[in-house]
Amino acid sequence: MKIIKTIGVLTSGGDAPGMNAAIRAVVRACSYYQTACVGIYRGFQGMIEGDFERLEPRSVHNIVKKGGTVLKSARCDEFKTKEGRKKAYDQLRNANIDALIVIGGDGSFTGAMHFSKEFDIPVIGIPGTIDNDIFGTQYTIGYDTARNTAMEAIDKIRDTASSHNRLFFIEVMGRDAGFIALNSGVAAGAEEILIPEEDMGVDRLVESLKKSRLTGKTSSLVVVSEGDDTGENVYELAKYVRKNLPQYDVRVSVLGHMQRGGNPSCADRVLASRLGVKAVELLLNGTYNVMVGVLNEKIEHTKLEDAVKGKNKINQELLRISDIITI
Ligand code: ADP
Repeated sequence: MKIIKTIGVLTSGGDAPGMNAAIRAVVRACSYYQTACVGIYRGFQGMIEGDFERLEPRSVHNIVKKGGTVLKSARCDEFKTKEGRKKAYDQLRNANIDALIVIGGDGSFTGAMHFSKEFDIPVIGIPGTIDNDIFGTQYTIGYDTARNTAMEAIDKIRDTASSHNRLFFIEVMGRDAGFIALNSGVAAGAEEILIPEEDMGVDRLVESLKKSRLTGKTSSLVVVSEGDDTGENVYELAKYVRKNLPQYDVRVSVLGHMQRGGNPSCADRVLASRLGVKAVELLLNGTYNVMVGVLNEKIEHTKLEDAVKGKNKINQELLRISDIITI
């Protein structure tokens, strides 16, 4: 077992609400266990440049409720090269950092895994991404907030859709996974939900909307996950439906980056706090190169290589429920 005196923590990839709560938990757990903690700014880019700051429990006061990440995040192509990772390793050596906690998505975990193998630096991953697409955890930090943000926005669009008898296509985030679309869509009573995991086909969509109008519905909402490929994109999809269902007044709304921001929900803050403390405890107890996550309400860990290879499965039961309640 390695002796770990100083832990470095960074946030990488897409930001997600709750990342700050995770940073805070890591910093305070380090202090609790009398271990030094160093914040690494701007993800792997900051690691390569040695953009470090020693963090104490008071350095992270009042950030639990803030969206984004106080450590900033970045995408860093140089870290994908061995030379880039060597520079990062030299910076860690200079700062006497013995281990790393990486808060991010599967791209960040892949980088961390390579780094750990090459330079024998213990690493723990904390899943922070709004997409909820990481294997080894039922929930990623930021997902709960994002699905609530999407739901509230869809609720608002419903008001205008029903006032004008319109059909709205609403694109939500989720390039590879439909978690935000399925959950916010069910919660906001969307008529149709299109996700990458299930190809409905554009003709079935048209048929279904036609039927829906015949049952007396005056407004319709179709929630489309960014990564869904029923159409070329949400605008093309709307164009096709407009052509085939001229009786509909069709509009498009792309929710975009507002889904990443905002104060984290209670669930995200609690999850981040639990995962942050556990990450420190695992490092100090000699368990390395794993990702912490929550499975059946318990904090568990999964090998990083399994976490990046696997895929979090969409809830089939929720898909079925969604079909039933939109009748
Ligand atoms: P996320 O962590 O949210 O999935 P990205 O996929 O953008 O976000 O990855 C974040 C960063 O992780 C990249 O900018 C890069 O620095 C690092 N990274 C991603 N893939 C690799 C890889 N195959 N090798 C080394 N580093 C990687």
